[in-house]
Amino acid sequence: MAEGTGAAQVEELMASAMSELEAADSLDRLEEWRVSYMGRRGRLTQILRSLGGMSPEERRFVGGAANRVKALLEESLGQREQAIKRAQSRGSGDQDAFDVTLPGWPMPQGGLHPTTRIVREILSVFQSMGFQVVEGPEVEWERYNFEMLNIPKDHPARDAFNTLWVDYEDENGDKPMLLRTHTSPMQARYMEQTKPPIRIVSPGNSYRYEATDATHEWQFTQIEGLAVDRGVTFANLKGTLFEFARRIFGEDRQVRFRCDFFPFVEPGVDMSIDCFSCGGSGCRLCSGTGWIEIMGAGMVHPKVLEAAGVDSYIYTGFAFGMGPERIAMLKYGIDDIRLFHANDLRFLKQF
Ligand SMILES: [Zn+2]
Repeated sequence: MAEGTGAAQVEELMASAMSELEAADSLDRLEEWRVSYMGRRGRLTQILRSLGGMSPEERRFVGGAANRVKALLEESLGQREQAIKRAQSRGSGDQDAFDVTLPGWPMPQGGLHPTTRIVREILSVFQSMGFQVVEGPEVEWERYNFEMLNIPKDHPARDAFNTLWVDYEDENGDKPMLLRTHTSPMQARYMEQTKPPIRIVSPGNSYRYEATDATHEWQFTQIEGLAVDRGVTFANLKGTLFEFARRIFGEDRQVRFRCDFFPFVEPGVDMSIDCFSCGGSGCRLCSGTGWIEIMGAGMVHPKVLEAAGVDSYIYTGFAFGMGPERIAMLKYGIDDIRLFHANDLRFLKQF
């Protein structure tokens, strides 16, 4: 081999290797390039192998050049490999580029609180029967919470309402403000401002100073209902509440009314539905009676009508009150009312 030939070969190889390396745009093509120059039968490898047949002077000259080219090609190969990997990771959405084929991030989804759900469900049943939703203050005057509902001072019924009083004194040194113990004050407030016919439902928080247990909370929700017009009878009460029970607890429900006492109604009743768990034969849910009490109701006491300026000789009405948490507990099989305010996501996520 002539002296010039070996050197020209190395030079020509270097030029073509560098331009092919530039054109290699994937790791696969990079590997093909490496094999064709530096593999076992690669062009550069063959030049290095042929050194043994050269004269010592030629070997030193061509060998030196070939080894320098080999080092240069290996370094360029490494750089090219990094560049291709960077381009690929950009292409897969790491940095500025966006890959529409990647699956999306799951969005955490909120939901309505079970109390909110059941309140809305109950209200919508009454709204469909022509009742209007009204709301009132949670900090209430004693007058609306008690006096106007036929519970005068010193009435024994007040003992049943373990009242939380607000620390506020009027000019007589009395403390007439409280956290409402029920939603019934809205009956008095609404009748005072509106002439019959009246058909309202009023949801909201109520408060009682009580020890908490599985069925008692010091803060709870109530829904109050009131209908006042000429000629409203007990049959209207029964029909309305029967329809409500069927819509919430199922078409087949039976209802039972029994006498009960509330100062603001006369007569007063409690309303039960037949136990949907055992079908009436008696179980733990219904304490073996076959019936489950779901609310209190009655014909509005004439004194309550008169206190709000409604003529009880012309108008009659019925009223009812229920605890939505109790309705939800029955409907969804929840066994502890404290779960509603515990903010436990394991509970809340089930609704
Ligand atoms: Zn039962």
